[in-house]
Amino acid sequence: MLFPAICALCGRIGERVICDYCRGELGPFRPELLHGTGLVAYRAILFDYEGRAKQAVHALKYERVTALGQPLASLISEAVDQYQLEFDLAIPIPIHYFRRCFRGFNQAEILAEGLAPTRVSPTALRRIRHTAPQVSLSRDQRLANLKNAFLARPSVTGKRILLIDDVATTGGTAIAAAEALMAAGATGVGLVALAGNP
Ligand SMILES: [Zn+2]
Repeated sequence: MLFPAICALCGRIGERVICDYCRGELGPFRPELLHGTGLVAYRAILFDYEGRAKQAVHALKYERVTALGQPLASLISEAVDQYQLEFDLAIPIPIHYFRRCFRGFNQAEILAEGLAPTRVSPTALRRIRHTAPQVSLSRDQRLANLKNAFLARPSVTGKRILLIDDVATTGGTAIAAAEALMAAGATGVGLVALAGNP
């Protein structure tokens, strides 16, 4: 027996938090897996950051529709299988303590916990500096802004890390996170994000 649910994206009544219609609108995953961007061995970005995907990210992040966490994590899980990504630890891209207190949760953490509840490590990577919003900065300023923004714990030593984020924009954040993880002894770092620039 399934209780009727209301689609979190379009409001239709059905059986799923993301209805078949909206899942269809999200479209197939982006086919390409981007390899070898410096310290980040691969980047898997599932959808273009527009339309239903943008709406889903906003609902999870700003409207606190936490029911979306599991269905979105399931999409990431499908992609992990499709791209055959192997990892030992799933680590959400951390947000700064202040921002977390303000928002109450880290949306990337919800996704990572839904993806791999037994292999998630939300505390292995910390954001140690409160960085200025990236949007207003040039590329060089962004990289400087992120320098030493993260610190990884020794528990990542010898581990293959899968970073999880809701939106991957410039990739600078993932690179800075990967720097910290590799410095702490991780053997490899990849990134899966729900959405990214078209
Ligand atoms: Zn829908």
